[in-house]
Amino acid sequence: MTKLIINGLKASIEGKQILKGINLEINGGEVHAVMGPNGTGKSTLSSVLMGHPKYDVTDGFASLDGVDLLEIDVDERARAGLFLAMQYPSEITGVTNADFLRSAMNARRGEGNELSLIKFIRLMEARMKNLEMNPEFAHRYLNEGFSGGEKKRNEILQMMLLEPKVAILDEIDSGLDIDALRIVADGVNAMRTEERSFLIITHYQRLLTYIKPDYVHVMMQGRLVKSGGPELAHKVEAEGYDWIKEELGITD
Ligand code: ADP
Ligand code: MG
Ligand code: MG
Repeated sequence: MTKLIINGLKASIEGKQILKGINLEINGGEVHAVMGPNGTGKSTLSSVLMGHPKYDVTDGFASLDGVDLLEIDVDERARAGLFLAMQYPSEITGVTNADFLRSAMNARRGEGNELSLIKFIRLMEARMKNLEMNPEFAHRYLNEGFSGGEKKRNEILQMMLLEPKVAILDEIDSGLDIDALRIVADGVNAMRTEERSFLIITHYQRLLTYIKPDYVHVMMQGRLVKSGGPELAHKVEAEGYDWIKEELGITD
């Protein structure tokens, strides 16, 4: 059974402490949502879990199925089954989307288990069709000139091909109109299994009506300060975060 464990995780950037002790356990098949005001460290948490080198982990522990994530680099974390759909996906000139997807996929599958070019193309084209992406996007440079919504679909395409154990989706709904949101959410829901887990970062309840979470957490000032079920997302959407600050005596 898949298990992601995050314990007492603290991280800083350029000497500024952002994550101040994150505790979270995600079991196989669970969908966890994280909400929270801008600048509280949600993207930092996803980047630190994925292993972005610009952050310094100063304390704590994170593991996926017994693999100590903090001891291995980004590539190895991907191979271990972790995936991050970034809030702001990078553009890479000179590397086509198809080339990128194929090498990421083969790296995840491991030596000796690579897909043939024909099988890869068939699979990529089928998934692009699911996501209603124009086939020409396969041959364009990675994310270059893609609109915000196209980048988000492309992140989901990567997720579908990489078949991670745990997918972290950082504001996958931002920049999507309602039709694109439904397509992306259908793509995510099609990937839900009893084994695969999701950590979904969003500002909006709307996404969570399409992708139903089992647990909702609120992050404030680098900590997960409140957890509940889907009703917590409704309350946050209706009332904002001030009531949580009051409840916890947080001043800023
Ligand atoms: P969220 O995703 O919740 O909006 P982030 O994780 O993106 O928040 O940012 C958390 C904090 O880290 C913010 O206060 C932001 O200004 C700060 N931060 C992010 N990147 C840098 C950086 N390169 N240098 C200094 N501070 C940064
Ligand atoms: Mg933000
Ligand atoms: Mg963010």
